[in-house]
Amino acid sequence: MKKGPQASTGRDPTLVVHAGPAPRDQAGVINPPVDRASTIVYDSVEAYMDRHKGLYDTVIYGLYGTRTTFALAEAVSALERGYATVITSSGTSAIALTLTAFASAGDHLLVVDCVYGPTRNFLADVASRFGVEVEYYPPDIGGEIARLFRPNTRLVYMETPGSQTFDMIDVPSIAAAARARGIPTAIDNTWATPLFFKPLDHGVDISIASATKYLSGHSDCLLGTMTAASEPVYRQLKDAAARWGNCASPDNCYLVHRGIRTLAARLDRHQRNAARLIDWFVEQPEVVAIRYPAHPADPGNAIWKRDFTGASGLFGVQLDGLTPAETSAFFNSMSLFQLGSSWGGFESLAVPAWPAPVRAFPNGEADGALIRIHAGLEEPEDLIADLAAAFGRVRALRREGGR
Ligand SMILES: *Cc1c(COP(=O)(O)O)cnc(C)c1O
Repeated sequence: MKKGPQASTGRDPTLVVHAGPAPRDQAGVINPPVDRASTIVYDSVEAYMDRHKGLYDTVIYGLYGTRTTFALAEAVSALERGYATVITSSGTSAIALTLTAFASAGDHLLVVDCVYGPTRNFLADVASRFGVEVEYYPPDIGGEIARLFRPNTRLVYMETPGSQTFDMIDVPSIAAAARARGIPTAIDNTWATPLFFKPLDHGVDISIASATKYLSGHSDCLLGTMTAASEPVYRQLKDAAARWGNCASPDNCYLVHRGIRTLAARLDRHQRNAARLIDWFVEQPEVVAIRYPAHPADPGNAIWKRDFTGASGLFGVQLDGLTPAETSAFFNSMSLFQLGSSWGGFESLAVPAWPAPVRAFPNGEADGALIRIHAGLEEPEDLIADLAAAFGRVRALRREGGR
């Protein structure tokens, strides 16, 4: 596997088409071979006894990756402009491994409050049992985070835009403050993908993605990635994945590599569809706020414009307080939008979310469900017809109730 600065094969839309090993390195075949393996055999006792030296970049045992895994890792490293990438079984496992790779009993972690729910659950249910202290910081902290650093702070963890509430955080300021104190930083970059935000260019040490989402793009597999900015960080992450026995399936690596080929084209369409839907949402009298950093009225818009080069298809719509009956009427009879967790596939999704109760720093959410929309690749006017019918059902209920 190639590591370190990758030879550039052009801008991102070109890179997604070509990133990873060249066809000439795999017998002229365009797509990577799918090598399924547990046992790897060696030619001599000497080679067998030396095999662990190859953990970081060669095929030594199926658990640590085959050619298929390393081909994907190389492609992701090129997109993230990182030193090297570890592929894991899911986005959740990439997060859990990152959070534990740097912390021992008695250490302190700083984690942004708007973090993905299962990340919070992992810290509460698992990290706490190993004596790791977790402190949540408000998303708008910026360089002031330095005031929270302690001698035992081992990692600053970020996610932006935040899960459900889409808070933007000032990544360069937080990364600079941490780097000045020698504290590593990690970020969950799933929403933007490396096409729209490159955390390592802004001073972050580890960029994490749930490749289950846009990189795969087809709602049919799970995979996670951890891209390291430097060799020592890469080795620490690779060791963590190996010790925990975390394994990425070669078939899923193949599917994600295949998904990446169309990533730029898909994101372009997701972004345009999201913009079209938001134009329609803001015209509806029940809508009180759009949570999407690319929207000019979003409080994170200035940071988004400064640091990001695009926006994906996931956003939140805050209504004027949907009752439980109105929430059911809205979601239960949709024809194109489907109700389901995850996102980043070709299909549109709509789910209710209630972000406030778990937060340490609630950020003024209105009462009632927030609607989380994933704009898929459908014709946007068809999606709007589906949404118009859903608003119609809510209005009918309100008329009946005299509201
Ligand atoms: C879905 C998601 C994850 C977890 O990914 P899985 O591959 O489903 O485990 C992590 N972070 C964010 C922001 C996500 O949306």
